Amino acid sequence: MASLNIPPLRIALFGKPGAGKGTQAEALKGAFGLAHLSSGEILRSEIREGTLLGRKVEQYVLRGEIGPEDLITEAIIGYIERKHSSGGYALDGFPRTLYQAEELDGRFPPDLCLLIDISDEEAVKRLSGRYTCVSCEKIYSTGASGKPAVPSCERCGGELRRREDDTPEVIRRRLRVYMEQVVPVISRYREKGLLETIDGALSPRLTGKKIASVIAGKISGNRGFLA
Ligand code: AMP
Repeated sequence: MASLNIPPLRIALFGKPGAGKGTQAEALKGAFGLAHLSSGEILRSEIREGTLLGRKVEQYVLRGEIGPEDLITEAIIGYIERKHSSGGYALDGFPRTLYQAEELDGRFPPDLCLLIDISDEEAVKRLSGRYTCVSCEKIYSTGASGKPAVPSCERCGGELRRREDDTPEVIRRRLRVYMEQVVPVISRYREKGLLETIDGALSPRLTGKKIASVIAGKISGNRGFLA
């Protein structure tokens, strides 16, 4: 799809692990020219490269916990500042705590927040049956065989693996962190009138269409038409 000539929107995507934030953020790249900024992906790449930040956060990421807040907040906001301060983007996984939201709002306040809503059961089902490309993080669901339909990543040829934090115990912890830490952030943006909720139980294509229509409404100033 051709990119549209639109003002640089700053979007924050919310949703339980497995809701499809990453998939939808990738779709927004093509449809609206928004960069996809995944805090989890940024942290995993720091871990792979063995940087100081990577070494400090590794155990937290493996356990599905929020790590040292000030370090992570500084790293993600610094990343926005260096690479995306004048362009539009979709944040995926950030902000995840009220502290992070306050810091973000002070520097790069979101124009629109989207909650992709799924049940806990759906989250567990999706995370338990997904493979991720170790290089570009494209996600692959599994069929009846329990394996993805392709042997390696169709986008970059990378190896497909289960993510180390997609185990039943860590999934439960990530859902608990979501309820305790992220839900108050979502309430904050709802109170500010910035939040739109989208049914994430639909197919990725239909969810994407709803998201695109909310964004189009935001751009044209014609909000609230999502029945
Ligand atoms: P995600 O890829 O969004 O599922 O994130 C994977 C893991 O990275 C999380 O379980 C956390 O351990 C860590 N993480 C990602 N984003 C943040 C954040 N904004 N604040 C703290 N930890 C984060």
